[in-house]
Amino acid sequence: MSTHQSDVTVMGLGRMGTALASAFLRAGRRVTVWNRTAHRARPLRDSGAVFESSVAVAIQASPLVVVCVSDVPATWAILGAPAVASALAGRTVVQLSSSTPGEARDLDAWVRAQDADFLSGAILAWPSQVGTEQASLIVAGPNAVLRRHEAMLRSLVGTLEHAGEEIGAACALCAAVLSYMAGHWIGFVHGARICQAEGLKLSDFGEALAAFAPGLGQDARHMARVIDTGHYAHPETSLTTVANDIARLVQVSREDELSSTWPRFASGLFRQAIDAGLGAEETAAVFKVLHEEVMP
Ligand code: NAP
Repeated sequence: MSTHQSDVTVMGLGRMGTALASAFLRAGRRVTVWNRTAHRARPLRDSGAVFESSVAVAIQASPLVVVCVSDVPATWAILGAPAVASALAGRTVVQLSSSTPGEARDLDAWVRAQDADFLSGAILAWPSQVGTEQASLIVAGPNAVLRRHEAMLRSLVGTLEHAGEEIGAACALCAAVLSYMAGHWIGFVHGARICQAEGLKLSDFGEALAAFAPGLGQDARHMARVIDTGHYAHPETSLTTVANDIARLVQVSREDELSSTWPRFASGLFRQAIDAGLGAEETAAVFKVLHEEVMP
């Protein structure tokens, strides 16, 4: 029988921290919460969580401490105080605040120096998806530590992936996913401008992309395989064909009197790949020139 007051402490009750604490409660876990601004804990208290105003007391309440604040400087602001550091001994800290791989490595070294275990994770979900099949969590850190807390962490998500023991791996994978999403977001809003200028319904654009989504997943797997194996020859669509289509996007922007920032950037990158002699290769061959600065 655990001597702890609760099973898990959630530090940080913004949109995501509140969703995490709520999912733990829905899974029947005993939950302690802490937040810099106390009143944000009220709905969780009403649902059965225990609020502690002292960071050290909140940490000592549970064997597992999940931190989900804006960023790593905010995490240091909470954990770095001497009275707090000494409360960490014997606990496992799971950092779910967005971090760079380097920040995760620094935090890991410091947490372990306090005789605590550390896992670094990245949530791939909206707060409303936490606790459902749609939410994914990527975690890096020692396998033995993850296995000890796996059942608890599975209360939060449908998919729990171990990115490996190297503590920066989850943040690195999350950064790679975010890089992909950045293109998706910018591409979507530029496409929305085209639709608006041409009198098309944005809902039709959204539906067309949703229908195409499985193909995007297939393309991601294909590109990873091409870059991994170095087999860039014999593409179904050559880099030149795609480059010509993207160059046409600049023309569309001109015709519709839209900003051409995004298509000019993309077109410049593909032009650089063609100038490097890669025109007959797979689209993924742009990988070979991306280490160089591209001026639109
Ligand atoms: P949010 O709603 O803006 O909440 C930010 C939280 O950080 C609040 O609890 C805030 O406390 C706390 N905080 C900020 N600076 C602090 C400091 N110096 N000391 C103590 N506490 C501090 O953000 P969120 O959406 O919950 O996101 C939290 C983390 O989850 C971020 O790293 C984000 O990238 C990640 N994430 C979010 C989503 C999402 O869709 N929301 C998805 C995946 C990952 P106060 O209440 O006192 O201001």
